[in-house]
Amino acid sequence: MYGVRRVKLPNQLLDNIGTTIFTIMSALAVEHGAINLGQGFPDTDGPADVIEAAAAALRDGRNQYPPLTGVAELREAVAAANRRFYGIEADPAREVVVTSGATEAITASLLALLDPGDEVVLIEPLYDTYLPVVQLVGATARLVRLNPPDWALPRAELAAAFGPKTKLLLLNSPMNPTGKVFTREELGFIADLLVKHDCYAVCDEVYEHLVFDGLQHIPLMSLPGLRERCVRIGSAGKTFSLTGWKIGYVTAPARLAGVIARAHQNLTFTTPPNLQRAVAVGLAKDDAYFASLASDLAAKRDRLSEGLRRIGFGVLPSHGSYFVTADFAPLGFNGDDADFCRHITEHAKVAAIPVSAFYPGEAPRHYARFAFCKREAVLDEAVERLAAHFAARRAAE
Ligand code: PMP
Ligand code: GLN
Repeated sequence: MYGVRRVKLPNQLLDNIGTTIFTIMSALAVEHGAINLGQGFPDTDGPADVIEAAAAALRDGRNQYPPLTGVAELREAVAAANRRFYGIEADPAREVVVTSGATEAITASLLALLDPGDEVVLIEPLYDTYLPVVQLVGATARLVRLNPPDWALPRAELAAAFGPKTKLLLLNSPMNPTGKVFTREELGFIADLLVKHDCYAVCDEVYEHLVFDGLQHIPLMSLPGLRERCVRIGSAGKTFSLTGWKIGYVTAPARLAGVIARAHQNLTFTTPPNLQRAVAVGLAKDDAYFASLASDLAAKRDRLSEGLRRIGFGVLPSHGSYFVTADFAPLGFNGDDADFCRHITEHAKVAAIPVSAFYPGEAPRHYARFAFCKREAVLDEAVERLAAHFAARRAAE
């Protein structure tokens, strides 16, 4: 037998990035019997008709490889949803690619657009898969930071991040973890930069239907002149509260969609056909479904935010996504956000995500991200546990 060779190291970037914070905090929550307000997933099932459609689609004999870019039903449903919600026209045969989750869609899009040496503008705080993929391709990230409490776009800094080597901007709106929904004015400013510097945008819009307070999600792709520059990414996981399904969909100009399909062909090749067909049923649901998805979540956001405020957290506004960011500095905790999230998981039995995990470098260290996509009784119980824990700590001081 050959011994294990230890001379040559595996890929150094992947070897060193460690396990994602979402997995770490979920494991810690299980270990301590904590309510998991960390990793973002709903604790109720998605719509019964969509699940029924998946079950039926498993039994009707179409279980072999589907077409590379996705089953026709889903590509047509994605095109129809683009028209219905945003007035975007897309050819389902040439401009839609179905992937195994938005995660794959993001990776495939970056692989498809970037060459080594290209520059990519990323906005901090950022979702944890963006930077490693940019680096794996050999591209260089230019980071621009939004600052709490209002997460406004620093326009001069964003403009300064663009240069002759910039290939693309990665934009996440509605944004994880901030709950920021980019305004039409901000998107217009970004659009002008993209045109001026002849760049693309990869738009992570997985929370497109989780927008509150009468605001509207505006795809960058829908702005004048941006149709041919944007890759728009959605996720059935978020739109149908079925995060384990991992069905993502890309809408892009045909030239780019073709190259994204080449990336997809080398990552997963295809995505389970039965779930794709069920998601097509979901995308055709009536407007009432999408309206109540958002209004139910807005009520949960209010419930959790009010509860956290009563305990003494400084809760930042969140206008979209599954998440609120809470400042724990007013509670007088002695430690950083990683310490805090570990502490509340172990001692209050409520898990959250340290916001510094969304910054590759130096970061604010007094914010925790709480997911509110849970049943009301679960949110109430989490608030009660935190309240009791911090009351006991204060009493012991
Ligand atoms: N982008 C963002 C901003 C997310 O929060 C998530 C959460 N899962 C994803 C992408 C990945 O989506 P999916 O589960 O469809 O891969
Ligand atoms: N997007 C989810 C979140 O931000 C987690 C996805 C994951 O665990 N990779 O919580």
